[in-house]
Amino acid sequence: MNATLSNATLSTVPAELAGKVVTPDDRRYRPLRSTYTTVGRPAAVVLPESAGDVAAALRLARETGLRVAVRSGGHGLSGSGTNDGGLVIDLSALHRIDVLDRGSRLVRVEAGARWAQVAQALAPHGLAISSGDHGNVGVGGIATGGGVGWLVRRYGLTIDHIRAVEVVLPDGTAVRADAETDPDLLWVMRGAGAGAGIAVAFEIEAMELRDVGHTQLVAAVDPAGQTLRRWADVMAQAPRELSTAVMLSSQGTTTAAFITAVVASDSPSVIRDALEPLLGIGDVRAQQTHIVPYTELVPPHHLHTNSGQMPASTTNGLLTDMTPDAARALVTAAAAPDPVLIQLRSLGGATHAPAPSATAFAHRHQNTLVVATAFPPDAPATLAAAWRPLAPHTDGAYVNFESAPDEATFTRAYPGPTRTRVTDLWKRYDPDGVLRPGPPA
Ligand SMILES: Cc1cc2nc3c(=O)[nH]c(=O)nc-3n(C[C@H](O)[C@H](O)[C@H](O)COP(=O)(O)OP(=O)(O)OC[C@H]3O[C@@H](n4cnc5c(N)ncnc54)[C@H](O)[C@@H]3O)c2cc1C
Repeated sequence: MNATLSNATLSTVPAELAGKVVTPDDRRYRPLRSTYTTVGRPAAVVLPESAGDVAAALRLARETGLRVAVRSGGHGLSGSGTNDGGLVIDLSALHRIDVLDRGSRLVRVEAGARWAQVAQALAPHGLAISSGDHGNVGVGGIATGGGVGWLVRRYGLTIDHIRAVEVVLPDGTAVRADAETDPDLLWVMRGAGAGAGIAVAFEIEAMELRDVGHTQLVAAVDPAGQTLRRWADVMAQAPRELSTAVMLSSQGTTTAAFITAVVASDSPSVIRDALEPLLGIGDVRAQQTHIVPYTELVPPHHLHTNSGQMPASTTNGLLTDMTPDAARALVTAAAAPDPVLIQLRSLGGATHAPAPSATAFAHRHQNTLVVATAFPPDAPATLAAAWRPLAPHTDGAYVNFESAPDEATFTRAYPGPTRTRVTDLWKRYDPDGVLRPGPPA
């Protein structure tokens, strides 16, 4: 310990962290203090450049008694990537992306890279990893939680293809966990990683992919939700190549579905055949279909600094079937006087392939992810009111689309035996709860 900090809370930092600890009097502090949803006032932000630095940051937190927040891309909806008065471990300097073995499509991606950077780095190799719908989201948050991306029905979740994780445990031990060396750690890092350790890098099996079919459609949505039911029927029969995301938008009593469709193929006939049934779901206007590089879906222009610019409230649930009651409830929520943004993401296809017990993401039979977002001034109250009638139709939830994690959301994200195993492993790897993002206590 040798470098003196000007902040009174921290008197010294370990030698290896010299120049990597940013306090409020540092001009680097302002763009580092906040996340996408949350303005933070941490006592310090540490910028590790190695697993050893991450261990040193954890040691510093222990010695100073500061609460730890872990950040990769800062897009976490609950704002857990920052705090007030604590220590943020910001992994953005750990952003290497390497193809380890082109033959087996194995790549190593560091946790602080953004998915736009990953797509750019893999494109020259003809490889891609399905991640999410936005290029600024960090590798660490998606790859420890799930990863419902533009290719989700073809590829599955991002976590389904993680073969090894390099982790710094809360006691500072650096571990590379794979199926042979530490299957429990690998299991928990794939879906519930936030409470077990700090992932520094992931070895992920990418897919062969350069170009995709991409189009947008707009469909009128009837109050009874029949359009949504027909969309769900089409997706249940669709080839795995087709993934879609639907945004419901209402003006007065009129609701429209804005559908983004991606076909994981560069074959015009495969793309045409996959998209054609969508035209039959109702009164549909379709834009021209383009064949574009996958990189255009998570482009570099998504990259930006986070400043708490989106103080929204978000929750989610998974649907097994789009029943008439569920469809009607979705349209009602989207058209409410205090509207919420409702997004539907197609699951199924490859997401159903792993057994529910294979990873800490147990939801392998549901077909639709419903995400609801409300905006200020009354975001939490508006969201709660809108979600109440939707909740009974859902069957589980995805941990990464939750801005107010609590006991109930934890149970929905990790049902039954998954909850027991996650709880046990969090206690084993992090007995003092240094990283614990929410329940269990
Ligand atoms: C605009 C936007 C679009 C999104 N789109 C999608 C989407 O299409 N598909 C999808 O699946 N999700 C999507 N999400 C949700 C996303 O998966 C989560 O918000 C995710 O946590 C963001 O990752 P991050 O690294 O940027 O988050 P951060 O804010 O950096 O981290 C959030 C939390 O995740 C945990 N964490 C992060 N990195 C690590 C690590 N290296 N080791 C251990 N724990 C870690 C920590 O608890 C941390 O506090 C979206 C979010 C936003 C805001």
